Amino acid sequence: MDDALTLTQVTKRFGRTQVIDGIDLNVAPGELCVFVGPSGCGKSTLLRMIAGLEDVTAGQIAIGGRRVNELPPAQREIAMVFQSYALYPHLSVRDNMGLALRQASTPKAEVLTATDRAADMLSLTALLDRRPADLSGGQRQRVAIGRAIVRRPKLFLFDEPLSNLDAALRVATRIEIARLHRDLGATMIYVTHDQVEAMTLAHKIVVLRAGRVEQVGRPMDLYNDPDNRFVAGFIGSPA
Ligand code: ADP
Ligand code: MG
Repeated sequence: MDDALTLTQVTKRFGRTQVIDGIDLNVAPGELCVFVGPSGCGKSTLLRMIAGLEDVTAGQIAIGGRRVNELPPAQREIAMVFQSYALYPHLSVRDNMGLALRQASTPKAEVLTATDRAADMLSLTALLDRRPADLSGGQRQRVAIGRAIVRRPKLFLFDEPLSNLDAALRVATRIEIARLHRDLGATMIYVTHDQVEAMTLAHKIVVLRAGRVEQVGRPMDLYNDPDNRFVAGFIGSPA
Protein backbone atom coordinates (compact mmCIF):
# COMPACT_ATOMS: atom_id res chain seq x y z
CA MET A 1 0.00 0.00 0.00
CA ASP A 2 1.16 3.56 -0.72
CA ASP A 3 2.28 5.74 2.16
CA ALA A 4 -0.39 8.17 3.32
CA LEU A 5 2.21 10.92 3.07
CA THR A 6 5.66 11.05 1.55
CA LEU A 7 7.95 14.06 1.81
CA THR A 8 11.07 14.01 -0.35
CA GLN A 9 13.68 16.70 0.26
CA VAL A 10 10.96 19.25 1.01
CA THR A 11 12.46 22.72 1.29
CA LYS A 12 11.06 26.17 1.96
CA ARG A 13 12.72 29.55 1.70
CA PHE A 14 11.08 32.88 2.45
CA GLY A 15 13.28 35.24 0.48
CA ARG A 16 16.78 34.23 1.54
CA THR A 17 15.69 32.67 4.81
CA GLN A 18 15.73 28.87 4.76
CA VAL A 19 12.84 27.77 6.98
CA ILE A 20 12.54 24.09 5.97
CA ASP A 21 15.74 22.37 4.93
CA GLY A 22 15.36 19.17 2.88
CA ILE A 23 12.93 17.10 4.92
CA ASP A 24 12.34 13.42 4.08
CA LEU A 25 9.48 11.59 5.80
CA ASN A 26 7.03 8.71 5.31
CA VAL A 27 3.75 8.41 7.18
CA ALA A 28 1.92 5.07 6.95
CA PRO A 29 -1.86 4.81 6.47
CA GLY A 30 -3.65 5.05 9.80
CA GLU A 31 -0.64 6.47 11.60
CA LEU A 32 -0.89 9.38 14.05
CA CYS A 33 2.33 11.27 13.43
CA VAL A 34 3.26 14.20 15.68
CA PHE A 35 5.61 17.00 14.59
CA VAL A 36 7.15 18.47 17.71
CA GLY A 37 9.70 21.19 18.17
CA PRO A 38 10.24 24.65 19.63
CA SER A 39 8.40 27.71 18.43
CA GLY A 40 9.76 28.96 15.11
CA CYS A 41 11.31 25.62 14.01
CA GLY A 42 9.02 25.41 10.95
CA LYS A 43 6.18 23.11 12.07
CA SER A 44 3.36 25.28 10.72
CA THR A 45 5.20 26.02 7.49
CA LEU A 46 5.70 22.30 6.86
CA LEU A 47 2.03 21.56 7.59
CA ARG A 48 0.89 24.43 5.38
CA MET A 49 2.98 23.08 2.50
CA ILE A 50 1.35 19.65 2.93
CA ALA A 51 -2.05 21.38 2.92
CA GLY A 52 -1.18 23.42 -0.16
CA LEU A 53 -1.52 26.75 1.64
CA GLU A 54 2.15 27.46 1.01
CA ASP A 55 4.23 26.69 -2.09
CA VAL A 56 7.17 24.31 -1.88
CA THR A 57 10.50 25.89 -2.81
CA ALA A 58 11.98 22.49 -3.68
CA GLY A 59 11.18 18.81 -3.15
CA GLN A 60 8.13 16.58 -3.54
CA ILE A 61 4.98 16.02 -1.51
CA ALA A 62 2.81 12.95 -2.20
CA ILE A 63 -0.47 12.13 -0.48
CA GLY A 64 -1.63 8.53 -0.90
CA GLY A 65 1.01 8.03 -3.57
CA ARG A 66 -0.18 10.98 -5.64
CA ARG A 67 2.14 13.93 -6.20
CA VAL A 68 0.29 17.03 -5.00
CA ASN A 69 2.84 19.84 -5.43
CA GLU A 70 0.74 21.52 -8.11
CA LEU A 71 -2.70 20.77 -6.64
CA PRO A 72 -4.73 23.44 -4.80
CA PRO A 73 -5.78 22.64 -1.20
CA ALA A 74 -9.31 21.63 -2.21
CA GLN A 75 -7.96 18.82 -4.41
CA ARG A 76 -5.56 17.31 -1.89
CA GLU A 77 -8.12 15.29 0.10
CA ILE A 78 -6.88 16.82 3.34
CA ALA A 79 -8.65 18.66 6.15
CA MET A 80 -6.86 21.04 8.48
CA VAL A 81 -7.75 22.08 12.01
CA PHE A 82 -6.16 25.31 13.22
CA GLN A 83 -5.52 26.68 16.68
CA SER A 84 -7.80 29.62 15.80
CA TYR A 85 -10.79 27.39 14.78
CA ALA A 86 -11.41 29.55 11.64
CA LEU A 87 -15.21 29.18 11.76
CA TYR A 88 -17.58 31.41 9.80
CA PRO A 89 -19.34 33.66 12.38
CA HIS A 90 -22.50 34.16 10.28
CA LEU A 91 -23.10 30.42 9.77
CA SER A 92 -24.66 27.94 12.18
CA VAL A 93 -22.66 25.00 13.51
CA ARG A 94 -24.48 22.76 11.01
CA ASP A 95 -23.61 25.01 8.07
CA ASN A 96 -20.02 25.51 9.19
CA MET A 97 -19.60 21.75 9.30
CA GLY A 98 -21.31 21.09 5.97
CA LEU A 99 -19.92 24.00 3.97
CA ALA A 100 -17.05 22.23 2.20
CA LEU A 101 -19.34 19.40 1.07
CA ARG A 102 -21.96 21.85 -0.18
CA GLN A 103 -19.30 23.76 -2.10
CA ALA A 104 -18.36 20.44 -3.71
CA SER A 105 -22.02 20.10 -4.84
CA THR A 106 -22.67 17.10 -2.61
CA PRO A 107 -26.43 16.24 -2.50
CA LYS A 108 -28.15 17.98 0.40
CA ALA A 109 -29.34 14.77 2.09
CA GLU A 110 -25.82 13.41 2.04
CA VAL A 111 -24.43 16.60 3.61
CA LEU A 112 -27.01 16.39 6.40
CA THR A 113 -26.25 12.73 7.10
CA ALA A 114 -22.52 13.40 7.26
CA THR A 115 -23.00 16.47 9.46
CA ASP A 116 -25.35 14.67 11.86
CA ARG A 117 -22.96 11.75 12.13
CA ALA A 118 -19.95 13.96 12.92
CA ALA A 119 -22.04 16.00 15.39
CA ASP A 120 -23.01 12.76 17.13
CA MET A 121 -19.37 11.63 17.37
CA LEU A 122 -18.40 14.95 18.97
CA SER A 123 -21.49 15.48 21.20
CA LEU A 124 -22.47 18.55 19.17
CA THR A 125 -26.01 17.50 18.21
CA ALA A 126 -27.70 19.91 20.62
CA LEU A 127 -25.61 22.81 19.30
CA LEU A 128 -26.18 22.41 15.55
CA ASP A 129 -28.37 25.53 15.21
CA ARG A 130 -26.08 27.82 17.22
CA ARG A 131 -23.57 30.29 15.83
CA PRO A 132 -19.89 30.21 16.82
CA ALA A 133 -20.27 33.32 19.00
CA ASP A 134 -22.66 31.36 21.25
CA LEU A 135 -20.17 28.54 21.87
CA SER A 136 -17.31 28.07 24.33
CA GLY A 137 -13.74 27.73 23.04
CA GLY A 138 -13.82 23.97 23.53
CA GLN A 139 -17.11 23.69 21.64
CA ARG A 140 -15.75 25.80 18.78
CA GLN A 141 -12.75 23.57 18.46
CA ARG A 142 -15.05 20.50 18.39
CA VAL A 143 -16.96 22.15 15.52
CA ALA A 144 -13.68 22.73 13.67
CA ILE A 145 -12.79 19.05 14.18
CA GLY A 146 -16.31 18.07 13.08
CA ARG A 147 -15.94 20.12 9.93
CA ALA A 148 -12.77 18.18 9.16
CA ILE A 149 -14.45 14.79 9.77
CA VAL A 150 -17.40 15.63 7.50
CA ARG A 151 -15.04 15.96 4.57
CA ARG A 152 -13.67 12.42 5.05
CA PRO A 153 -10.15 13.47 4.16
CA LYS A 154 -7.34 11.04 3.39
CA LEU A 155 -5.21 13.04 5.78
CA PHE A 156 -6.07 15.13 8.85
CA LEU A 157 -3.73 18.01 9.64
CA PHE A 158 -3.84 19.56 13.12
CA ASP A 159 -1.83 22.71 13.92
CA GLU A 160 -1.61 23.14 17.70
CA PRO A 161 -5.37 22.60 17.99
CA LEU A 162 -5.40 22.76 21.80
CA SER A 163 -3.34 25.93 22.31
CA ASN A 164 -6.31 28.21 22.93
CA LEU A 165 -7.98 25.89 25.45
CA ASP A 166 -7.53 25.86 29.20
CA ALA A 167 -5.66 22.97 30.82
CA ALA A 168 -8.67 20.75 31.64
CA LEU A 169 -10.18 21.16 28.18
CA ARG A 170 -6.83 20.48 26.60
CA VAL A 171 -6.69 17.05 28.20
CA ALA A 172 -10.34 16.29 27.35
CA THR A 173 -9.94 17.35 23.72
CA ARG A 174 -6.69 15.45 23.37
CA ILE A 175 -8.44 12.28 24.53
CA GLU A 176 -11.24 13.05 22.07
CA ILE A 177 -8.78 13.35 19.18
CA ALA A 178 -7.15 10.04 20.15
CA ARG A 179 -10.58 8.38 20.25
CA LEU A 180 -11.53 9.84 16.86
CA HIS A 181 -8.28 8.59 15.44
CA ARG A 182 -9.13 5.07 16.59
CA ASP A 183 -12.77 5.23 15.47
CA LEU A 184 -12.04 6.69 12.05
CA GLY A 185 -8.85 4.73 11.36
CA ALA A 186 -7.62 7.95 9.78
CA THR A 187 -4.11 9.17 9.12
CA MET A 188 -3.30 12.25 11.17
CA ILE A 189 -0.45 14.72 11.31
CA TYR A 190 -0.52 16.61 14.57
CA VAL A 191 1.70 19.62 15.25
CA THR A 192 2.53 20.73 18.77
CA HIS A 193 5.31 22.29 20.81
CA ASP A 194 4.02 20.39 23.85
CA GLN A 195 6.07 17.32 24.82
CA VAL A 196 3.24 15.76 26.85
CA GLU A 197 0.82 15.98 23.92
CA ALA A 198 3.43 14.44 21.65
CA MET A 199 4.22 11.59 24.05
CA THR A 200 0.58 10.70 24.76
CA LEU A 201 -0.86 10.98 21.23
CA ALA A 202 1.81 9.85 18.81
CA HIS A 203 2.55 6.55 17.16
CA LYS A 204 5.50 8.32 15.63
CA ILE A 205 7.19 11.54 16.69
CA VAL A 206 9.16 13.74 14.31
CA VAL A 207 11.41 16.07 16.30
CA LEU A 208 12.11 19.25 14.32
CA ARG A 209 14.78 21.80 14.99
CA ALA A 210 15.48 24.83 12.81
CA GLY A 211 13.82 23.33 9.74
CA ARG A 212 15.47 19.92 9.92
CA VAL A 213 14.42 16.53 11.27
CA GLU A 214 16.45 15.86 14.38
CA GLN A 215 15.04 12.36 15.05
CA VAL A 216 12.02 10.21 14.11
CA GLY A 217 10.75 7.40 16.27
CA ARG A 218 8.15 5.92 18.56
CA PRO A 219 7.61 7.98 21.72
CA MET A 220 9.22 5.52 24.13
CA ASP A 221 12.16 4.93 21.78
CA LEU A 222 12.90 8.65 21.67
CA TYR A 223 12.45 8.88 25.39
CA ASN A 224 14.71 5.93 26.18
CA ASP A 225 17.21 6.32 23.37
CA PRO A 226 17.47 9.92 22.16
CA ASP A 227 20.05 10.55 19.42
CA ASN A 228 21.33 13.73 21.01
CA ARG A 229 20.93 16.19 23.85
CA PHE A 230 18.40 18.32 22.00
CA VAL A 231 16.00 15.38 21.63
CA ALA A 232 16.71 14.27 25.19
CA GLY A 233 16.03 17.76 26.50
CA PHE A 234 12.91 18.14 24.45
CA ILE A 235 11.26 14.76 24.99
CA GLY A 236 12.72 14.01 28.38
CA SER A 237 11.73 17.11 30.27
CA PRO A 238 8.09 18.12 30.65
CA ALA A 239 7.17 21.68 29.66
P1 ADP B 1 6.42 27.04 14.14
O1 ADP B 1 5.08 26.70 13.63
O2 ADP B 1 7.30 25.84 14.40
O3 ADP B 1 6.39 27.93 15.35
P2 ADP B 1 6.65 28.53 11.67
O4 ADP B 1 6.55 27.50 10.60
O5 ADP B 1 5.45 29.35 11.94
O6 ADP B 1 7.20 27.86 13.01
O7 ADP B 1 7.83 29.53 11.30
C1 ADP B 1 9.13 29.07 10.99
C2 ADP B 1 9.99 30.26 10.61
O8 ADP B 1 9.54 30.80 9.36
C3 ADP B 1 9.95 31.39 11.61
O9 ADP B 1 11.22 31.94 11.71
C4 ADP B 1 8.99 32.38 10.96
O10 ADP B 1 9.28 33.68 11.36
C5 ADP B 1 9.26 32.16 9.49
N1 ADP B 1 8.09 32.44 8.64
C6 ADP B 1 6.89 31.82 8.69
N2 ADP B 1 6.03 32.30 7.77
C7 ADP B 1 6.73 33.27 7.11
C8 ADP B 1 6.41 34.16 6.02
N3 ADP B 1 5.21 34.13 5.44
N4 ADP B 1 7.37 35.03 5.62
C9 ADP B 1 8.59 35.04 6.19
N5 ADP B 1 8.95 34.23 7.20
C10 ADP B 1 8.04 33.36 7.66
MG1 MG C 1 3.21 27.12 14.36
